[in-house]
Amino acid sequence: MFSKIGYGAVNTASVRLPSMTNPVTDHLNVNDAPDDQVSSGGVGRVKVLLPLPLAGAYDYRVPPELHLATGQFVLVPLGRREALGVVWDNVLEEKAGAVSDDRLKNVIGVASTLTLPEETRRLVDWVSGYTTAPLGAVLRMAMSVPAALEPPKPRIAYAFGKSPTDLRMTPARRRILDLLRDGPPRTQADIAFETGVSTSVVRKLAETGAIRIVLLPVERTVPQPDPDSGGPVLSTAQHDAATALCAKIGAFSVTLVDGVTGAGKTEVYFEAIAEALRRGHQALVLLPEIALGAQWLRRFEGRFGVQPVAWHSELTPATRRAAWRAIAQGHARVVVGARSALFLPFPDLGLVVVDEEHDGAFKQEDGVAYHARDMAIVRARIGDFPAILASATPSLETIVNVETDRYARVRLPTRHGGAELPDIHVIDLRVDPPERQCWLSPPLRTALAKTFAAGQQSLLFLNRRGYAPLTLCRTCGHRLECPNCTAWLVEHRFQGRLQCHHCGLASRQPKACPSCKAEGSLVACGPGVERVAEEAMALFPEARLMVVTSDNMRNPSDAAEFVRKVMEQEVDILVGTQIVAKGHHFPNLTLVGVIDADLGLAGGDLRAAERTYQLLHQVAGRAGRAERPGAVYLQTYQPGHPVMQAMSNGDRDGFLKAEAQARRVGHWPPFGRLAALIVSGRDEQAVDAVARELARRAPHRSDVRTLGPAPAPLAMLRGRHRRRLLLKTDRNVAVSALLRDWLPQVKTPSTVRIQVDVDPYSFL
Ligand code: ADP
Ligand code: ZN
Repeated sequence: MFSKIGYGAVNTASVRLPSMTNPVTDHLNVNDAPDDQVSSGGVGRVKVLLPLPLAGAYDYRVPPELHLATGQFVLVPLGRREALGVVWDNVLEEKAGAVSDDRLKNVIGVASTLTLPEETRRLVDWVSGYTTAPLGAVLRMAMSVPAALEPPKPRIAYAFGKSPTDLRMTPARRRILDLLRDGPPRTQADIAFETGVSTSVVRKLAETGAIRIVLLPVERTVPQPDPDSGGPVLSTAQHDAATALCAKIGAFSVTLVDGVTGAGKTEVYFEAIAEALRRGHQALVLLPEIALGAQWLRRFEGRFGVQPVAWHSELTPATRRAAWRAIAQGHARVVVGARSALFLPFPDLGLVVVDEEHDGAFKQEDGVAYHARDMAIVRARIGDFPAILASATPSLETIVNVETDRYARVRLPTRHGGAELPDIHVIDLRVDPPERQCWLSPPLRTALAKTFAAGQQSLLFLNRRGYAPLTLCRTCGHRLECPNCTAWLVEHRFQGRLQCHHCGLASRQPKACPSCKAEGSLVACGPGVERVAEEAMALFPEARLMVVTSDNMRNPSDAAEFVRKVMEQEVDILVGTQIVAKGHHFPNLTLVGVIDADLGLAGGDLRAAERTYQLLHQVAGRAGRAERPGAVYLQTYQPGHPVMQAMSNGDRDGFLKAEAQARRVGHWPPFGRLAALIVSGRDEQAVDAVARELARRAPHRSDVRTLGPAPAPLAMLRGRHRRRLLLKTDRNVAVSALLRDWLPQVKTPSTVRIQVDVDPYSFL
């Protein structure tokens, strides 16, 4: 997506951020000395950036007794309160509008011994410049754990004191003394737990001097991965790929590890991580669904002897604080995380890996709209180290970059250990339709029966949660819709509820039609996973069945339990959404049935075909990963569609070539650029007025087109009306600069919001 590796995307000549840093020219070409003492003539001034949606840093005075360096966390007055910020780099500044010395407020003090590293600050600058999100809003992502800035409070524990002489001994006291006499100090909670004595007894005993208070070390130690601890013997192809990757450590590059599922891509990039560790660097691995990474973590442990530091939304606050500190101090050597891990304060990062690089989960839509894969490449560029992208179905963007030699590629063409890729059967639903109100076609039923009889596992895949996507009144035709969103309510029959998948609204399933009041007239239309599960249960009453969706996979322990059940053969048939499609390796799973292979093709999404192919390929990759060959059944009404053809011929590259050609002709990404604007608000007229005004003031250039405004497909979301504009430009246009020029021209009432999404992936 970058016309030159890393930085071509933003046309460097024309990016200017008003009165703040220019991410490209200031920080990448100009070699500013990192973490310099901030110096300034006359009154000591610093710029302090606050993690708030403000466009730039504020000036503060440095009291003479303070010596500040860039990157330091400081407390500053903000209005009537104190705020935590970061000393930002002293940038060239437009003198006009600068606050005069006598109006400056003093920095209150330094807030932490930790600092925000230079490279992280440059990433913040860059992401803000590219996405047009306020600098402070991006900083906020890098300061997501303010509590981590202070060292953890020492923990109070108790150790054995002096041998008691005149102590009144009780059985409870004796148990405590026996425990502590021979063991290490323990907290009162631990003592209570181990002895069954109440904590008040512990405190009373301490007053006698029989046990004494000690402070336990505060920082948890982070287990250190050993690059030479173990790992499998690599095949020749794997070894060659690993060698190529290891050779990249030490300088910027982007390499795609392109190989079928099960080829050993993970094992190969583990070698690059090992090499980065040997050279004294930290390494970061981004995964799309970290919550489901239990198997990945085990494999890492197998290779490096310990678990890596994990970073995702399910961490407890204490673990999160400890992880952030360990990373900032350089103690955490390998971090595996979701996209937000990119903004962690690595002082020493020397490798970033983006596994499943094509995955849409890397795109953040809310708040700062950024693509973590692309920003990982920017991060690698800033730190001058390699980025590795891994996928069996690389994104078109990445493939085009490989073909134009911007990225290198290593290939792993075959599955490890000779496991064969599954046979793909395309089932034409026009020829082999399921029975009425059923969703499994006769050939799929036969295959299921065979697989079950053979004691092997099956996966029925449907990317739709709940029982039915639509509930309709047979009497009056009324459809149950969300009152806040342009969306149908989805029936979740197992919970007896209707749910809006956009705003989360949930209600009981009504008995009568809300419109015509007819009783017993509501019918479910179409299938969700629950309905498919119902059908499979009726067909195979003895089979053990499990439904797997985000509704019942809420945290890592759910995920671990799921993996355990499948591995230990406690499940015969899985029915699941894309949450089961990713990354798992289940040796006994030999059949995959895709209920509706056409599902993702509908709608006007630019990447609909590409994504459908990636998803189907990934789901298909769950079948037959070990000695037993697998089979995949794709149910479709469009057997001639290029996606189905590519699946059945195994012709990924041909498919991508045709896709690329279509995009090239239409000047769509990656051959052109897009930026989406969503104008939203509760007052429809105000929203329309802003949207129209935006269109009127849109840039007039031959290499830029503005489409819209038009009602967004989700014309209403959480009660807000939404209009879309799409900016479509030639590839060499600096879209971010254009937006920065254009948007401020339009007066926007505070009730109307304009969301900017550069390189949009969702078109809702
Ligand atoms: P990919 O990431 O390409 O899908 P993986 O790295 O997950 O492939 O490998 C698939 C499976 O094969 C894993 O269980 C992995 O441990 C195993 N594997 C891969 N390479 C080797 C090897 N050289 N020796 C032993 N097992 C291997
Ligand atoms: Zn809703």
